Amino acid sequence: MRIPHLIRALSPILVSGALTVAPHGTPAIAAAATLDGDRIVTGDGDLIVHPINHATLALGWKDLTIYVDPVGGAGRFAELPPAGLVLVTDIHGDHLNADTLKAVAQAGTKLVAPPAVAAQLPAELRDRVIPLAMGQKTNVAGVAVEAVPAYNLTPERAKYHAKGRGVGYLLTMGSARVYLSGDTEDIPEMRALKHIAVAFVCMNLPYTMTVEQAADAVRVFKPKVVYPYHCRGSDLEQFKKLVGPDVGVEVRIRDWYQQ
Ligand code: ZN
Repeated sequence: MRIPHLIRALSPILVSGALTVAPHGTPAIAAAATLDGDRIVTGDGDLIVHPINHATLALGWKDLTIYVDPVGGAGRFAELPPAGLVLVTDIHGDHLNADTLKAVAQAGTKLVAPPAVAAQLPAELRDRVIPLAMGQKTNVAGVAVEAVPAYNLTPERAKYHAKGRGVGYLLTMGSARVYLSGDTEDIPEMRALKHIAVAFVCMNLPYTMTVEQAADAVRVFKPKVVYPYHCRGSDLEQFKKLVGPDVGVEVRIRDWYQQ
């Protein structure tokens, strides 16, 4: 543990004495970790954006921490806050890993996934899933969650993401609408989005789309802020250049591949 993390982790204990003992007998710190990252105003508390890796990220809003596609092992999440809500977008290994999910989705965690993902989970997780197919909505932990379409358009890429299996998500927190594209191309449903405060848009070949497709769609639906993610091997500077300065979209390039 690095020193700043240690200080951050210990400070709530000093304030509240909130030390608990985990089932395996080692001391655990209740809700001690805090989420750092970019802050975005929602009209009801800031939204914190915390990239983790590739398609995996954390969002913080008020007391809630949301994990999207938690994969990569429990260690990746050990120093992060406990999950209030976990969203899974698709069945592939860069989005779904049952062991990581077991570690992150603890007893009180709400778990939302499309039916195709639920079907692949071990029973203990499957029984807890709130299944959300494309077009369906729910309200979890104060967040409006809608599963939105995510699929390939290009015939030779259709084998990767057939329409109806995986999903993206549209979240509403306060007045902020947050779009997570999932694995998709620049589908009409993406282009039709309105009033998006923050968008996470995938781009990589051969699985999803080119930076040109992504930039073209972004120029149409005009999120206030866009984070290219799920973007291994993509030229993000080119994406930023193609989005351009004239449509009022701020492109935020982050390092999604440092771990
Ligand atoms: Zn993927």
